[in-house]
Amino acid sequence: MNLLPPLCAVGLFGGTFDPVHEGHLLIARSVAAHFGLKQVRLIPARVPVHRAAPMAEAHHRLAMLRLAVAPSPELAVDTREIDSLQQNYTLLTLQNLRAEQPNASLLWIIGEDAFVQLPTWYRWTELFDAAHFVVVNRAGSALSGALPEVLRAAVASRLTKNKRALTSCPVGLVYHLTLPPQPASSTQIRAALAAGRVDEVAGLLPAPVLAYIARHALYQDQGNIHGS
Ligand code: ATP
Repeated sequence: MNLLPPLCAVGLFGGTFDPVHEGHLLIARSVAAHFGLKQVRLIPARVPVHRAAPMAEAHHRLAMLRLAVAPSPELAVDTREIDSLQQNYTLLTLQNLRAEQPNASLLWIIGEDAFVQLPTWYRWTELFDAAHFVVVNRAGSALSGALPEVLRAAVASRLTKNKRALTSCPVGLVYHLTLPPQPASSTQIRAALAAGRVDEVAGLLPAPVLAYIARHALYQDQGNIHGS
């Protein structure tokens, strides 16, 4: 079910999830624990706006996500972007969520590799009026010094180290959350699977997701590996 129950704060984690991996899950669970959230929603894009089309069809990516979150009661899958007929712009997704939840704090979770791309997003400056950003470190992607000037200027007055601030006001803050670096990347997982190196990905994917990939023979076409 997509409709948000009445919550005072909810974590929102958008992505392609092609496929969902242990890094995604650790981030989602860690954000829930860090901010004391009852729920973090994983929101798969139907067709991502800022990158190549996913390899696996939406229904497969959704099925894998559902298997992956099943053991974690604080995680849920939100299908609104897959169900939507319009472009999956994050701003529109957030406005849609806001209409359901006028007073909640919305915490948009994002890896630092994606955060540096924010100025390329649709009406990006308005995103700060629509949610908070929780920016998570990513192995091999150092944020410091790498922020485009326009983004640095936009976030300067929004940065906070006070986690309670994010659950006591609804939008507008940027919080850096440093977690143990997660080596998983969907691109590398797809490449390893296409090359038949299944052992390499076993620890990076939940077992039911790996079994699903094998059952449906996903990611076997090496010529069709997309990167970010
Ligand atoms: P790809 O390798 O194809 O780019 P991905 O592993 O980045 O895929 P996405 O579904 O594109 O997976 O990512 C969704 C979000 O999760 C993005 O904000 C991304 O930065 C973040 N993310 C994914 N993997 C990690 C990781 N290992 N550490 C930190 N953030 C991550």
